[in-house]
Amino acid sequence: MPEPAAILTCDLDAVAWNWRLLRDRHAPGATAAVVKADGYGLGAAAVARRLHREGCRHFFAAHLAEAAAIAPLLPNSMVCALNGLWEGDGGEYLAHGVLPTLGSLPEIAAWRDLARRRGAVLPALLHVDTGMSRLGLDANELATLAADPSLLAGIGLRFVMTHLASSERPRDRLNRAQLERFGRACARLPDAPRSLAASSGLFLGDAYRSDLARPGAALYGINPVPGRPNPMRNPVSLRARVVQMRDVAPGDTVGYNGIWRAARPSRIATVSVGYADGFSRRLSNAAVAHFDGRALPLVGRVSMDLTTFDATHLPDLKPGEWLDLIGPCQDADAVAAKAGTNAYEVLTTLGRRYRRDHPGA
Ligand SMILES: *Cc1c(COP(=O)(O)O)cnc(C)c1O
Repeated sequence: MPEPAAILTCDLDAVAWNWRLLRDRHAPGATAAVVKADGYGLGAAAVARRLHREGCRHFFAAHLAEAAAIAPLLPNSMVCALNGLWEGDGGEYLAHGVLPTLGSLPEIAAWRDLARRRGAVLPALLHVDTGMSRLGLDANELATLAADPSLLAGIGLRFVMTHLASSERPRDRLNRAQLERFGRACARLPDAPRSLAASSGLFLGDAYRSDLARPGAALYGINPVPGRPNPMRNPVSLRARVVQMRDVAPGDTVGYNGIWRAARPSRIATVSVGYADGFSRRLSNAAVAHFDGRALPLVGRVSMDLTTFDATHLPDLKPGEWLDLIGPCQDADAVAAKAGTNAYEVLTTLGRRYRRDHPGA
């Protein structure tokens, strides 16, 4: 095997620590793990397996295929796909032991019909929309369902759930409004356990407790309380090897379109990571890397496969040394701030070319 150009490490001990912190916060309610988008880019199978070992028994993916891929690793667990029941997929859900999240009357009808044909009660989650206007029953569908509970015949309601639109902003009035709408919706439905908070919702206060919390981001170290100290541990490190060092003269430009020009004799370190690896082009002339804790400014444009850093002040930096792109000096939230996005996008777009290491597996 050739030496990797870059290594993405997800420390599963830190992920497990994060899950236990959230679990303890939410007890006596249960705490799930959301592992959609391949575990926020870090490896769904490795994360799910480790958290199963910690005692987690509820797992969420977005797509049926994602859920089906991890279900065999997770005995005695609820494995659920969030993005609704696609017409004709019912048999696949059953075959893989994955629960659908039913979010419309046609989806409910499809699952009910399948239950009747199989002569069984089929478990599912019911998704009520309280302010996202994305998935989930709207007010009219809820009224129809409330008026005719037989529409749920043969469906074993494991949880009624909703999703908060603004929980990382504790003062947003949408939070309280959604909480109240959810309470009213549940009161009109058959009695079933409830699932409300994702990562940030777990920090909104006691009113937002439920029978099952669904954190994703915070497991992976993303700050669930932006603007306040991050209570989570950062499990993510992205390190890239310097492939070349070169000297540039005053006036020389670096990279596409020459958007950075050396003002003095400079040393440039090039690494084999670019926007094709999810290292955003919007970090051009903006981000930093670290070597031994010392910052190197990113200079010029991020290319598809390469990125350049000003290492003039680091005479000991040589080809083959490793630069930290994400890690102890700079977490995914910090990189996101420089790229003008959120840490969710930074992590979920991390590319396929990294070697992925999972200490603590
Ligand atoms: C993504 C998602 C979550 C997890 O959200 P985080 O903010 O990452 O904790 C929970 N529930 C639903 C419905 C989601 O789509």
